[in-house]
Amino acid sequence: MHSDTSSPGGEDPPPGQRLTQLKQFHSAGRGFWRDVSEADWNDWHWQLKHRISSLEQLERLLPSLTPEEHAGTQLANHKLALGITPYFFNLIDPADEHCPIRRQVVPRVEETHSASWELSDPCGEDSHSPVPGLVHRYPDRVLFLVTDRCASYCRYCTRSRLVSNASGYDFHPHFDQQIAYIRNHPEIRDVLLSGGDPLLFSDEKLDHLLSQLRAIPHVEFLRIGTRIPVFLPQRITPQLCATLKKHHPLFISIHTNHPRELTIEVREALGRLADAGVPLGNQTVLLRHVNDDVTVMQALVQKLLMCRVKPYYIYQCDPISGSAHLRTSVAKGLELMEALRGHTSGYAVPTYVIDAPGGGGKVPVSPEYVLSRAADRVVIRNYEGKVFEYIEGAKRPTAFKVSENFDAPAVPSPQVVEPGMWR
Ligand SMILES: *Cc1c(COP(=O)(O)O)cnc(C)c1O
Repeated sequence: MHSDTSSPGGEDPPPGQRLTQLKQFHSAGRGFWRDVSEADWNDWHWQLKHRISSLEQLERLLPSLTPEEHAGTQLANHKLALGITPYFFNLIDPADEHCPIRRQVVPRVEETHSASWELSDPCGEDSHSPVPGLVHRYPDRVLFLVTDRCASYCRYCTRSRLVSNASGYDFHPHFDQQIAYIRNHPEIRDVLLSGGDPLLFSDEKLDHLLSQLRAIPHVEFLRIGTRIPVFLPQRITPQLCATLKKHHPLFISIHTNHPRELTIEVREALGRLADAGVPLGNQTVLLRHVNDDVTVMQALVQKLLMCRVKPYYIYQCDPISGSAHLRTSVAKGLELMEALRGHTSGYAVPTYVIDAPGGGGKVPVSPEYVLSRAADRVVIRNYEGKVFEYIEGAKRPTAFKVSENFDAPAVPSPQVVEPGMWR
């Protein structure tokens, strides 16, 4: 099939051609499940019920399972459960051991290795949690964890301590307590629902929760962080969109890491959300041999715009225990940012952040464009490396005094534009 990352030994086409290839929209259809009825396949409950969640299923579907994957899967259900929707599973290239889709969802034995500086709660969320399931780290907004379940499990999950409950975290959010906390804190104007994945809730449950939040006068803005449009686009039904539409302003952040995740099905699901007036952003995690490649990242951000999604953040991978094989350097992240800014639409350029370990929050990191600064000038460089000087001047002009050398332009007379004039 296809080999999109610069895989060892593989021959890559020239970058321009590779970019075009990566940006094409495909559908894997029913793939391995060709005997399943169209109605079942498109039913999100069917997809959840038939997730790949055991070693036996994985071995049957992926005869090329490597010893590292085999050993990792045997241990996965003690750490972070194995779970892959049939829809998403079809995006795996079974012939490619280095498939970027596969690396995100198939466990590997390296998950059992952890270094002394790695953490189970890398963002220090538990220490910023006033009530179970609520993280209040920034002054005006909260992270509201509504569930510990997802449609599929990302092997680098920053919240793997609680998500899927494989390590016995015993996550039980108390919605009454969480909502009371938000109601009692008038400084909270922004509530971000996450988890786990909030879109696993039924439409009724989601509607009820969003209504309760909307009833709090100081909550101005709601948002949902979800990977369901990518793992389970069948969930984005017209009824769900109608439910979400009742609670505007409501934004959604999706999570994609590789352009191949943006299939025809995902583009349609995102289109339904956008048509319901939901502004869409994307969060990407920088992952080794998944998207630590300029052409892959350019294809991803440009393809996101084609799906009506604004790339919002690229995260440096958190030092979560057992994720060393998926992490890459900050230098690589900076190189990718350098290759985006100026080279492609500003709308396609996300902010690169490191979530400071221990609870410092998101810190933006950027290539350096300011070369020097003095009281009256800054020296800057552009994306091509050309250097410019911007003079600030120490003196401000006096108000209400027209400069002597100012030549006022003549005011044009208004002109009526008749229909057809511009044809
Ligand atoms: C990321 C995050 C937010 C939202 O941050 P924004 O930069 O506003 O998107 C809020 N709370 C916590 C705990 C977070 O980790």
